[in-house]
Amino acid sequence: MAGAIEVIVGSMFSGKTEELIRRVKRAQLARQKIQVFKPKIDNRYSTSEITSHSLQKIKATIIDHPSDILNLVNDSTRVVGIDEAQFFDKSIVDVAEKLANRGIRVIAAGLDTDWRGRPFHPMPELMAVAESVTKAYAVCMVCGEQACRTQRISDSSQDILIGALDVYEARCRNCFEAPNEKGELSLIGAQKELT
Ligand code: ADP
Ligand code: MG
Ligand code: ZN
Repeated sequence: MAGAIEVIVGSMFSGKTEELIRRVKRAQLARQKIQVFKPKIDNRYSTSEITSHSLQKIKATIIDHPSDILNLVNDSTRVVGIDEAQFFDKSIVDVAEKLANRGIRVIAAGLDTDWRGRPFHPMPELMAVAESVTKAYAVCMVCGEQACRTQRISDSSQDILIGALDVYEARCRNCFEAPNEKGELSLIGAQKELT
């Protein structure tokens, strides 16, 4: 089998994890050996599985560094899934390429933009070398249109803040509010919804 890199990107709640699980489960139906990895940073829902916001799950190995994938992938593995790929450093790109060059199908899901609405590295680099890129969309929680941004609705200016519906919501370009240079948000939309 020829190897390749498939990337699934989009905002939070756009169904990236669901789509990753769907592709991996189809490979399992075809009796291909699969392995799924995720970075340690993401502790939502479960520690040995990846779980979508709609609570679909699949077993996953938690790793610290992309190079762990190279050490942990078995010779018989045909498909490697990687969730929350945006939390890895840029060496994930090399690792994905090495696996694909070895004939493995690599499916990586991650956020394409951060809470400021800027490219979330290393996803742009991963998209550039991928054979296939799928953009997934959520529903804007303000207007109901197609959402492509992740709005932080708590007032932390930490670059990485783990959470789900309590901290983030999906927004379209129009309803998304980027923080100012100090990282502050006025959160007009969010306040409107809470009242
Ligand atoms: P991602 O991995 O992209 O964050 P998931 O695959 O974990 O997304 O979850 C997608 C699921 O999230 C949807 O099928 C739906 O049940 C739920 N969901 C919650 N909020 C939204 C929203 N604003 N738009 C779309 N789906 C949402
Ligand atoms: Mg996800
Ligand atoms: Zn909107």
